Amino acid sequence: MNNLDAIFSPESVAVVGASSKPGKVGHDIFKNILWGGYTGTLYPVNPKAKSILCVKALPGLLNIEDKVDLAMLIIPPKLIIKAVEDCIKKGVKGIVVVSAGFREVGKEGLEIENRIAAMCRAAGIRLVGPNCLGVINPHSSIRMNASFAARMPAVGNISFISQSGALCTAVLDFADDRGFGFSKFISIGNKADVDEFDLLRYYHNDPDTDVIMMYIEELRLCGQEFIDEIKEITSGNNPTPILVIKSGKTSAGAAAASSHTGAIAGTEAVYDAIFEEAGIIRVDTVNELFDYAEAFIPKKIPRSNSIAIVTNAGGPGIVATDMTESAGLKLAKLGKETVNALKSHLPATANTHNPIDVIGDASMERYEKALDAVIKDENVDGAMVILTPQSMTDVTGTAEAVVKIAKRTSKPVVCSFMGIFDVSAGVKILQQHHIPTYTFPENAAKALGILNTRSKWLNRQILAQYEFKHAKEKAGEIIKGCFNRKQMYLGELDGLEVLKSYGFTTLTTILAKDEEEAAKTADRIGYPVVMKIVSPQIIHKSDAGGVKVGLKNEDEARRAFRDIVKSANAFNPDAAIDGVLVQEMARPGHEVILGMNRYPVFGPLIMFGMGGIFVEIFKDVVFRIAPIGRNNARTMVKSVKVFPMLDGFRGTPKADIEALQQMIVSLSDLVLDNPEIRELDINPLLVHEDGQGVTVADVRIILSEPDPECALAKNC
Ligand code: ADP
Ligand code: MG
Repeated sequence: MNNLDAIFSPESVAVVGASSKPGKVGHDIFKNILWGGYTGTLYPVNPKAKSILCVKALPGLLNIEDKVDLAMLIIPPKLIIKAVEDCIKKGVKGIVVVSAGFREVGKEGLEIENRIAAMCRAAGIRLVGPNCLGVINPHSSIRMNASFAARMPAVGNISFISQSGALCTAVLDFADDRGFGFSKFISIGNKADVDEFDLLRYYHNDPDTDVIMMYIEELRLCGQEFIDEIKEITSGNNPTPILVIKSGKTSAGAAAASSHTGAIAGTEAVYDAIFEEAGIIRVDTVNELFDYAEAFIPKKIPRSNSIAIVTNAGGPGIVATDMTESAGLKLAKLGKETVNALKSHLPATANTHNPIDVIGDASMERYEKALDAVIKDENVDGAMVILTPQSMTDVTGTAEAVVKIAKRTSKPVVCSFMGIFDVSAGVKILQQHHIPTYTFPENAAKALGILNTRSKWLNRQILAQYEFKHAKEKAGEIIKGCFNRKQMYLGELDGLEVLKSYGFTTLTTILAKDEEEAAKTADRIGYPVVMKIVSPQIIHKSDAGGVKVGLKNEDEARRAFRDIVKSANAFNPDAAIDGVLVQEMARPGHEVILGMNRYPVFGPLIMFGMGGIFVEIFKDVVFRIAPIGRNNARTMVKSVKVFPMLDGFRGTPKADIEALQQMIVSLSDLVLDNPEIRELDINPLLVHEDGQGVTVADVRIILSEPDPECALAKNC
């Protein structure tokens, strides 16, 4: 027996701390198991009570004669160690500690928690909690509600993991209203032993789980191995969608960070990166959790994003049409045959082009014929049916017609029967047959959108990795040299040299200490040139009026030198000015940013996005955890809003996306090879026309003592 089986499907359960006082947790959990119709054997353990709810109580766990698979412990922390010792003696296989008062209350509680976790580990017992709501398995062969949620959910194919106990009861309540059924339901509390990772694995192997929903506050995981294993769950054999709400989304980036990347990349960006890399779908609200889980239940994934809308109401049809675009969908262009079929079945006033308006007085036949015609169209990947209840609308008949067609097709069909009372009978029918249905068309559109996102994830192309030969030693020497001199940043010239060793194209750049030298250097490089201030106190040079581009001759170069020094002095009178860099002017290109910020446990977080001096305003950026391979680099580039511009928008030439991807991978290699790099910005990296590569125009590298926890992320 897998030890988590003892938690979810025990043959016998002992409730240690069962109470005869209604309203007490120890009473309610016992009552919920008993009245929920648990199919195994149940024992109340309480040294002071004779019986609980008419079941004879036992004074201690060891007084139970038969074997006990699962012990529910609802007792004060000071008694817990003794109770766990008894569990070990008794040979229980799983323990759920419902009681609170451990890690969350301070050091003493944490110590007890760690101690019982260690005891269980040594004895091969799995421990859930402490500080949790319990476990529910509604399957007819178990029917166990070992929790203090009053409601036993219906049987279904969704499994839930929650770090918050309180949210569980609300989720169960919502679920009932929406006709949702669960396979397994667990609240994990403090996660002393069993954590979300164990449960994701377990649910993935559970034949009754088709969709996993999860609420978490933090993940305790590390590195690439976690991501690879989750990826296998979400897209390998038996791919299972995982939906997550992660609280704390609005936490800001580190305000004191001295790079663009550091300023934008807060811990939430790390979570986003992990979720995206692993194929976990992050949602913002409990509503979305339900909306999307419902969409996944029929297991129908669209081939692509062209959808058809069939509606009896013009307005909602337009709303849905608007929403399709923001959900990443488009309205399918219907084939001739489809339009002809629609014309033959619909009145002359009906719109036979997408969105198909079957008109307010539509009968169920009209809906059926229209939906049947569009769903057969090879240009259509999925359909949405909208219904508003007019006096002549046959709500239940239409629902049945939709069920009939939806069952016949491999394409997803979602509905929005708009309203509450008048449409409720139809909604019930749809729910009974697992046809996703939503009160509002915008939710239906978002649900179809998420199915398309999943389709893209499942069908993602996997390209062979790049094989680069970097001049690692050279870069390492420069970085270690600075580090040993206790200079915790790389000067721009050193920075460029390091990037060059990793295959980046850089521009000729020379330091000039005075106006005379600047003029001579500019002559040597050849006009036009660029000049930039060099001062350890000035981080963003343009802020200080410290950058002049397109200098065409000696006069301009001399004037630029004087202007730059003057503005820098005015910007910060204490700034030490080392001189001015004279740099070759780059060929035109799109300005993007490539950056890195290092996080304990998770490792280096790589950022890519729209570059230039307005990075923080647009925040059009995407993150991934290094190591990044070619495929992740590709999705990064594709997922920013400026991508269409790089891809050749409105007749502009396509940019060198391939070279850009290569540089993302090279940057990931660089920061993994050099743990002293703490933060890095390449901004801008100029992406030239296709075939012409990319050029670094500015780089900033900050060093620090390598964090042992960051190094750990690489190896674990
Ligand atoms: P900072 O980011 O410190 O303000 P940059 O070196 O990035 O300074 O320069 C600011 C802007 O000047 C860049 O975003 C880019 O538009 C332009 N620029 C800088 N260097 C060059 C160059 N060598 N060729 C062309 N344009 C440049
Ligand atoms: Mg810059």
